[in-house]
Amino acid sequence: MSEEALDLLVERITAEILDRISFEVEASGRHVHLCRDHIDALFGKGHSLTSSRGLSQPAEFLSVERLTLVGPKGTIENVAILGPERKRTQVELSITDAKSLGVKPPVRDSGDTGGSASLILKTATGEVTLDEGVIVAHRHVHMTPEDAERFGVSDGDRVSVRVAGDRPAVFEGVLVRVSPRYRLAMHIDYDEANACGWSAGVRGRIVGPSDG
Ligand SMILES: [Zn+2]
Repeated sequence: MSEEALDLLVERITAEILDRISFEVEASGRHVHLCRDHIDALFGKGHSLTSSRGLSQPAEFLSVERLTLVGPKGTIENVAILGPERKRTQVELSITDAKSLGVKPPVRDSGDTGGSASLILKTATGEVTLDEGVIVAHRHVHMTPEDAERFGVSDGDRVSVRVAGDRPAVFEGVLVRVSPRYRLAMHIDYDEANACGWSAGVRGRIVGPSDG
């Protein structure tokens, strides 16, 4: 084998190994998950959310429908609604969004909305006052049981992840979520994405456990 061919081989193997020990980092914009009662109230009784396109996690979709968030200090229009419907309505904001709306949502794992912040949700045809359900979602990584085994982690673990953006950063306390229904991907919000100079295709790598 020529030296050139050997170099190419080493390069390819290194790239494959890096690929195996890392994952894609996706930035999630502000969005809302709605329960049945709130879909009825905002879009009419029995309305079904219409998929505009699928998302990286199987079964999740971005709906055609949009809504407006109204807070004590401001409003944000044209907010994405993710389907399918959920048991409880949940609004996921960045800290920047929360400041512009004038609310103080806690940083929580998805689904853990007890005692979280309040907002008004509005459409052309309805309005809902959400007493709780507004959170800043904790950064997390979705993976299958096979991925978890490869990375040596379990569902519910907190890990540190180095994200290789234009200004690389280590994110602490990243929640590991394991399910055979997931596809391997890390989710951060746009405040976090901007902090590390994220762009589409940027990858993350677990660098150790994390307490926080
Ligand atoms: Zn996610």
